[in-house]
This record gives sequence, C-alpha cells and structure tokens, in this order.
Amino acid sequence: MKTSDIRALYEEFVLPTYARSGVCLVKGKGSKVWDLEGKEYLDFFPGWAVSGLGHCHPDIVNAIKNQARKLLHVANNYYGVKQALLAKKIIEKSFPGRVFFCNSGAEAMESAIKFARKFGSKTGRYEMITMERSFHGRTLATLTATGQEKFHKGFEPLPEGFKHVPFNDFDALKQAVGPKTIAIALEPIQGEGGIQVASPDYLKKVKALCHEKNLLLVFDEVQTGMGRTGKWFAFEHYGIEPDLMALAKSLGSGVPIGALVVNRKIQEEVLTPGTHASTYGGNPLVAAAALAVFKAIEKGKLLGNAEAMGSYLKSRLEELKGKYPNLIKEVRGIGLMLGVELNRPGAEIVNRLRERGLLINCTQENVLRIMPAMTVTKRMIDQAVRLMDQVFSELS
Ligand SMILES: *Cc1c(COP(=O)(O)O)cnc(C)c1O
Repeated sequence: MKTSDIRALYEEFVLPTYARSGVCLVKGKGSKVWDLEGKEYLDFFPGWAVSGLGHCHPDIVNAIKNQARKLLHVANNYYGVKQALLAKKIIEKSFPGRVFFCNSGAEAMESAIKFARKFGSKTGRYEMITMERSFHGRTLATLTATGQEKFHKGFEPLPEGFKHVPFNDFDALKQAVGPKTIAIALEPIQGEGGIQVASPDYLKKVKALCHEKNLLLVFDEVQTGMGRTGKWFAFEHYGIEPDLMALAKSLGSGVPIGALVVNRKIQEEVLTPGTHASTYGGNPLVAAAALAVFKAIEKGKLLGNAEAMGSYLKSRLEELKGKYPNLIKEVRGIGLMLGVELNRPGAEIVNRLRERGLLINCTQENVLRIMPAMTVTKRMIDQAVRLMDQVFSELS
C-alpha cells in the first residue's frame, strides 16, 4: 500500500474533521518517525504533545507488553494495582489529594467542570470563568469553556455558566467574578492559544482572589504537565498550587489516559460513588504505561534534560530571530514548550519544513509551536535549527 491508497480510504470512509498533511506515519523511535514510503522525519511535535518521551520509548513499550500479557482491562467496580500505584505517584509529584481517571484531556476538564458545579451546588454557584484563547477540549462543556469563538460556531445552544476574560489581565478577571462564580480555570501556559505564558504576578493574584472569594482554581495542565517545562507540572514555576488539575497527553506518552487531581482540602463529599465515572478510566493497560512514564522521567533525569535542552533550543531560536527580524516577532515559552511568533502566516513554513524532514506545528495562524520530546539531544536541535534557517532564508 502507498500513501495515496490510504488517502483514498480516508476520503471514502473517515469523516473529514481534521486538516491532514498528506503524510502517513508508520514507525517511530525517539524523536524520529518514518512514513509509509520510508522517508525519515525529525519530530519536534511528537503526537501533538502526547509523546513526551518520544516515540516508542522502550520502557513504556515493555510496560505495555508485560501488562497486556496479564490483564488488559477490569471495570472500576474492582480495585486495580496499577491504578492505585499511579494515583500515589501523581499525588507524590503534585500536591496532597486524590485522583479521578479518564481517557483524554477533554474528559479531565469535563470532570473538573462537574466537580466545580457539584461543589458549588450547596450555595447555588455554578459559573466558571475561563480565558480568551484558551483550549480545554471538544465536548460540549469543554468547548464552551474554551475561549475561542471558532470552536463554538454551529454548536449552539451552548451550556450555560461560562464567562471568558482576557488572559493575564487580573482586573478583567476580578470584575468578572460574580455571586454565581464557583471556579476560575486556566492553562499556566496557553498551548493552542499560541504559547502564552502566565505572568507570575498574575497567577499569585488569581490564587489570592480564589482564596478570598472561596473559588476553585483549576489548572488545565494537559499540555504543560508531565515534565515538559522542566518541572513535573507548570504550577511549580509559580510557587502556588491549584485546587484542581487536569492531566492527559504526555501522562500516557502514547496511550489514551486523562486524570483530574483534586486537592485534599476540597475533595470530601463532592464526587461520591455514582456521581461520576468512566468505563475505561485508568485501566490496567494505560495505568501501567503512565507509571512507566513517571519512572522513565526519573531514571533518565529528563526534567533536567527538558530544562537544559529547552533553554538551548530557545537560545538557538533567539539567534534565528536576530538573523530574520522581518520574519520573527517573538520567541517565548518555558522548557520544551516553545513558540515562535511570526510576522506572517506560518502554514507555508510548516509545509516546507516537513518536506525537508522536520515536523512542527503552527497555531493561531502565525505561531510556530515547537515541543520536542524530553529525550531530545543538542545534535537534534542543531539539525532542526539548520532546517529552519534554510526555510527562513528562502522566504526572507
Ligand atoms: C489537548 C488539550 C485538551 C484536550 O485534550 P483531548 O485529549 O484532545 O481531549 C485540553 N486542554 C489542553 C490544554 C490541551 O492542550
């Protein structure tokens, strides 16, 4: 079979909900992937921020193999060994509390919304304030929480009880809080929104406001979590803790798993037996994989690598900005979550890079999103920067 045969099958049988690049990837190892025709690519956006340890990390593959031989799935009316150990691990690395498991980022945020509403139901509060240009998923509630109109169009009427305010603007947020407000939700670094980093001063004030008004602070760390920023979770850069934290993407480094972490202070009597559930949530297979992700990050000292390689990559991108001031407006981000804002649309750059063998992403039309695996090396970064340099020089 060739890529053109696969494309024909898609055109006939798969709903066209994605803009696809025309490449069919069939094999991966670390930061490299190969397509059906055998062409090799350097992958600096592996699995849309899912494959945090790169493709097919041997420890994850082994954990999956071992678990698959024993037990793939048990329902959540039984205990599971791997789920218990994974919950303990997540809590040890984040903050004292408990975990609910699901299968995706949207479900983790949906769980946060349900938790907040149940928490507020005693006092008649239900409204969640979220940020403009945020991204929280595609279920009806999470797309409503998402502060971008393009995701709402055509799906009205949307669920009630969401308000959007500009990101990093404390006064706007404070003004939006009303008698019905129960929670504030945000990404510490907006991913889909163009790698917008929350300012430390802003988050400290948001935390204080939540304390003062008895609001829940929800961090969507689906993209920022699991070491990408050089710390286990992005909140650690700010010296504050959220009440609820949503995880997914890199948590499984390739298997579908999501989690909502709930601070011990608020968890009692909110989501009780029967009030929320997920058939697959945290099943033995995905829990074994996620446990192996934690262990591989520790064993490989990958937080340190993410920090070191992140600052190296950022400095190399700053060099490119110096060289192409007409093309590049700003380089921003933390660790291996970097954005290059352009003075022009980025789609053509992404396409030209792919033709040369480098995979990256573009979001908000003009922000190149570069999020290599935590195992990335200096040599791979140099290779990627060389390819970017070539494409920028063609276009300038
Ligand atoms: C990707 C993403 C989601 C949605 O995750 P899915 O697994 O696609 O449902 C939610 N929030 C953030 C910040 C994300 O990056």
